[in-house]
Amino acid sequence: MNNLTKADLPVPAPRSSRPEILAEEIIERLTYRIGKDAKVAKPHDWLTATILVIRDRVIDKWMESTRRVYETGAKRVYYLSLEFLIGRLMRDAVSNLGLMEEITNALSSLGVDIRVIAGLEPDAALGNGGLGRLAACFMESMATVDVPAYGYGIRYVHGLFRQQMADGWQVELPETWLAHGNPWEFERQESSYEIGFGGGVETVGGHDDQPRYVWKPAERVIATAFDTPVVGWRAKRVNTLRLWSAQPIDPILLDAFNAGDHIGALRESNKAESLTRVLYPADATPAGQELRLRQEFFFSSASLQDILRRHLQQYDDLTNLADKVAIQLNDTHPAVSVTEMMRLLVDVHGFEFDKAWDITRNTFGYTNHTLLPEALESWPVPLFERLLPRHMQIIYAINAKILVEARKARNFSDTEIRSISLIDENGDRRVRMGNLAFVGSHSINGVSALHTDLMKVTVFADLHKLYPDRINNKTNGITPRRWLMQCNPGLTSLVRETIGDAFLDDAEQLKPLDQFARDSAFQQKFAAVKRANKVQLSNLVASRMGIKLDPNAMFDIQIKRIHEYKRQLLNIIETVALYDQIRSHPELDWQPRVKLFAGKAAPSYHNAKLIIKLINDVARVINNDPSVRGLLKVVFVPNYNVSLAEVMVPAADLSEQISTAGMEASGTGNMKFGLNGALTIGTLDGANVEMRDNVGEDNIIIFGLKADEVANLRGDGHDPRAVIERSRELAQALSAIASGVFSPDDRNRYTALIEGIYSHDWFMVAADFDAYASAQREVDILWANPSEWYAKTINNTARMGWFSSDRTIRQYAKEIWRAG
Ligand SMILES: *Cc1c(COP(=O)(O)O)cnc(C)c1O
Repeated sequence: MNNLTKADLPVPAPRSSRPEILAEEIIERLTYRIGKDAKVAKPHDWLTATILVIRDRVIDKWMESTRRVYETGAKRVYYLSLEFLIGRLMRDAVSNLGLMEEITNALSSLGVDIRVIAGLEPDAALGNGGLGRLAACFMESMATVDVPAYGYGIRYVHGLFRQQMADGWQVELPETWLAHGNPWEFERQESSYEIGFGGGVETVGGHDDQPRYVWKPAERVIATAFDTPVVGWRAKRVNTLRLWSAQPIDPILLDAFNAGDHIGALRESNKAESLTRVLYPADATPAGQELRLRQEFFFSSASLQDILRRHLQQYDDLTNLADKVAIQLNDTHPAVSVTEMMRLLVDVHGFEFDKAWDITRNTFGYTNHTLLPEALESWPVPLFERLLPRHMQIIYAINAKILVEARKARNFSDTEIRSISLIDENGDRRVRMGNLAFVGSHSINGVSALHTDLMKVTVFADLHKLYPDRINNKTNGITPRRWLMQCNPGLTSLVRETIGDAFLDDAEQLKPLDQFARDSAFQQKFAAVKRANKVQLSNLVASRMGIKLDPNAMFDIQIKRIHEYKRQLLNIIETVALYDQIRSHPELDWQPRVKLFAGKAAPSYHNAKLIIKLINDVARVINNDPSVRGLLKVVFVPNYNVSLAEVMVPAADLSEQISTAGMEASGTGNMKFGLNGALTIGTLDGANVEMRDNVGEDNIIIFGLKADEVANLRGDGHDPRAVIERSRELAQALSAIASGVFSPDDRNRYTALIEGIYSHDWFMVAADFDAYASAQREVDILWANPSEWYAKTINNTARMGWFSSDRTIRQYAKEIWRAG
């Protein structure tokens, strides 16, 4: 081996993209890799064989990309995220390789319909919602804009639960994405690391001034890497998503087995593996369970050990770490990495504390995703100390340093010092992970302009005073490959034939479409594409739910996690009010609408689950009432995931982005809809604000309280009862729901839910109702005028290019990572 220089090794010839060759290879894989005769192969076998053929083309580019980083010494970016909501991979890979036609033809020559097998691919749901989907879009964009990057996360055996409806209630079923194996991943036994928990800290080497600390964990598990290649657009670069799986340490198990303790050995093995068995299903609220902290440390430690090993292998020295490595923390879930980096640098690699702190801070960046104080992660000190005793010491040491800095730098009051501290001393003592991530990073970013501004005056107000240069904004984005080109081939073709192909490589080149906004021939084609997408969604709803939709009706869609701040409740209450109006004013010219909802509720979130039931109860009544005359239909589509979004987004006429202002950090669903030619009805929250700036205020329907008004109202005592009394429509809708009109089997089902609106209305449902209802009537008027409607929706598609995650990633690369 050592006699061969790397240049002497043969490199495989590039693989053919001719359909005949692809077809031959698919048969070859089917026969020799899967062991199936083409005559008896099942659709799943065809899927696997096809993926294996595509994968080979990906691997060629993957190795080339990896070699290039070693040769150029380019800076590597590591994106640490407890969630990656990647969805299906085949279409993404084929499309980014530019092989869609070839693979489709190869399969069809074998009598296989690519759409049928593509639909069998499991939807990898290793995430809850927006945060995980952002990580997936970022992975694709980092490969596209040629940033050498690794995503690090956990290979959960069970991703986000599958949602079923039982009598209108959400039922959670386990998700088993690995049931048929996973042809995309490569297990890397050689990339395994020991991860410790518990135990104590020993002091060694008393002969010089600096004692050294050695953590002696009581428990250990092995983290093993599973790699999935991520292909960028036109396959310019292929990066790696490295997911860690927990396994027991073999020797211990063997000992137990040999000693005859088979049950005990199995128990140990189960305990290790249970670490990475399930994804926590709560979105935007900390789980607070010990297993969760274990998951966070497990993947942080494995990732950092891997990063340092790779760096040392190439540079043999860690002092230049921050020049060659950028680590981005996606929310606070990996924040314990800051202390693990310090432990590795100080305890294992012998750095002085202050030097290690400089390296750490220059290496890390932290992305904040929420302002809600109750959603900020913190851990009880006793739990943290028991599980990670050395890290607790390091936190105290960092804290001492920071608090001294704070007292020196300015005249901070005791209140300010208390809010800067890494330890929350109010009540039981807790470690504040947000503060830890903040002080351990040179960059702290918010995910929309409004969110970043609010960060500076709310959660991080005092830390921002101490470190005024650290907070910056990086407005979220979405990858236009998945969220336009792949999910909406009809619109993509229409745009190509109208303005050419430049937008395929740069979404901001959609702009020239503006010139066609009022062109009636183009409007008709645009409307025809939308209608075809609506037919496709109608077919899905018919086959899954047995409900028939009219594709000529307006498709009004709200799909996202079910959360009180996202206000599905406002939407369904307005639907009830509309139902009343349609029945009491048959003389008016109502526009037919279909109200579509989808989304999962955290299993422990009582009100969210009740809102799902309410939507289904309202749907049953409205859909079965002949006096509605087909003017209104309500549908809750079960099991929202990336694949369902890919069908629903292109079919939307109206996009509901109606969160309580100040509570949605950015949103990315809003961007998907705008790009695909839906009109947005929304509040001035998150990225909606920048969407309005980009598409123009005439092309978006904005209503309701602004963030500062919400804050003021909450402070000054909002009187929801008075508001409700003044609004007849609202009062009627609320009393109908509360009194059991939609729940005759349990008349009190919604009493408490509605009482919450009367008594405090924290989410401003009553406060915003009238503004929302009148914005909806404005929408009706527009819809009745198709040339106005389509002019606006075409303007949306033309002007949403800025929300490409390529733009976001270029900003991260330039302003935070200084890479690429
Ligand atoms: C885009 C996306 C989200 C985020 O939607 P928001 O409306 O921004 O909350 C959540 N889940 C899935 C499956 C998505 O595709």
